[in-house]
Amino acid sequence: MQVNSKKLKKDLEKIVGKNYVFVDKPTAFAYAKDTMPWKVRQHNIPYAVVRPCDSAEISEILKYASNREIPVHIHGSGTSLVGLGRPKTNCIVLDMGRLTDLEIYPERGYFEVGAGYHIGKLRKKLLSHNALLPAFPGSEPVATIGGLISVNTSAHGVDATLFKPGDFVLGLEVVLPTGEILRTGTESIRRPAGIELTRFFVGSEGLLCVICKVRMRLVSHPHLRNIMACFKDTESILDTVVAMYREGIPTPMFFEYLDEKASRIGFSAVGLEEPEGAVALITVSSSTGVGADEKARVFLEFLERQKPLSARIVEDDSEWDLIWRSRSEAGNYLYRLGTTFGSEITVRVDMLKEAFREAREIILNLDSYKGNEFFSFGHIGAPTMHAYAFVRAKDLPDETTIAIANEVREKTEALNIKYGGCGGEWGLTAQRVEFLKKKYGSDYYNLLVKLKKVLDPANILNRGNLEGWM
Ligand SMILES: Cc1cc2nc3c(=O)[nH]c(=O)nc-3n(C[C@H](O)[C@H](O)[C@H](O)COP(=O)(O)OP(=O)(O)OC[C@H]3O[C@@H](n4cnc5c(N)ncnc54)[C@H](O)[C@@H]3O)c2cc1C
Repeated sequence: MQVNSKKLKKDLEKIVGKNYVFVDKPTAFAYAKDTMPWKVRQHNIPYAVVRPCDSAEISEILKYASNREIPVHIHGSGTSLVGLGRPKTNCIVLDMGRLTDLEIYPERGYFEVGAGYHIGKLRKKLLSHNALLPAFPGSEPVATIGGLISVNTSAHGVDATLFKPGDFVLGLEVVLPTGEILRTGTESIRRPAGIELTRFFVGSEGLLCVICKVRMRLVSHPHLRNIMACFKDTESILDTVVAMYREGIPTPMFFEYLDEKASRIGFSAVGLEEPEGAVALITVSSSTGVGADEKARVFLEFLERQKPLSARIVEDDSEWDLIWRSRSEAGNYLYRLGTTFGSEITVRVDMLKEAFREAREIILNLDSYKGNEFFSFGHIGAPTMHAYAFVRAKDLPDETTIAIANEVREKTEALNIKYGGCGGEWGLTAQRVEFLKKKYGSDYYNLLVKLKKVLDPANILNRGNLEGWM
């Protein structure tokens, strides 16, 4: 389809104003690039980037695009780790960054926030009302609440304790691909029972609607206590997680792990003494300080029964901040110093060790590359582990990076199928069309395609993601 870029610019300017339409090459290229380690291709580059200010402007843009069958890619902050941030076809990019209204209503028990609001800033604002934002992506300084809800990830949070962020969403303002503006849900703090569209749009990864505003319940901020434990190896941490669920130990808010290598890298990066073995970082929560102390004591006793090398409650907050930062520093190291191929393995709890061992074998014996290293860390209490293939080179040819990424993904996804999982974060639909067909059958996938067609007959929104394009 031929798009006249001068006319497109003029038409979009009529909707959002001259200052908010960009068709220059550097801007277009910046919105085409994402965290994926292969080059941007011509078909990823948008015709135009547009920055609307509200749902009315978005509605006009989508009507315009739908009538002309021009694809539209929704951009939160573009921090997706699995290719969702990259347009799969030439398109209009809808940058949500100007939708940043925030109203906190303590007397109503909820807040309303524009989709483009940054998560880290939102967390601080909520904290001043003693409220907790119940989702914790490592990207929170830049990622948006709209991106988070469209993926529905609790990230570092343990779902058994914190649920998914969508479980706290009371209502949404969305624009359908054909331009209708819908307001869903309730202004009561009790979520509606029965069929209700809020849940349908939460987690829809920009395939079914543009989320413009989110109404979310205020959750009072709990008292937290932090625990660090070193185990002789990662497998001992996995055994501990299985024991935690088997024995019915109250689940913590965070239960992270760093494998033997990642913990050494992370700790030395923040200037701490390198730990022995693999490290577990745990945060327990309670509504009172006394309750949090008691929970930490009970959890520590439980950990001690698992025979760690060491385990202790970390009393000093600044020490904990450093320890916690080691987790993100380990990730930064991988992304900065080489080329990294991640996987998201979230399997049945009692199968964690089998899945981990197989993932390690897969990654150390790739057909597509020899000489890579294996790293793993993740939100193991959730239970999610990330198994990474790491190549100490930044300049691999595209064919190689694509081959490694495909092999890591296909083989680790097979573990999710084999051991009863489906992936618990990141928002993976674009990368897992084959997975969905294998796990749930083609009827399931075809139903998703039909649902999309009902709402998006011209297939404009995030075109290519449900088709599995790169
Ligand atoms: C350092 C780092 C750490 C991370 N840690 C985690 C983690 O622990 N767990 C985790 O799950 N992810 C993590 N991520 C991935 C990512 O940051 C999150 O998934 C985040 O929620 C995406 O937000 P975003 O605003 O960047 O969305 P984007 O990447 O811009 O978009 C993600 C998807 O949502 C769609 N979308 C965005 N906004 C809207 C909207 N308003 N309406 C409809 N669709 C929309 C986009 O089209 C796209 O398909 C991490 C990323 C980085 C770089």
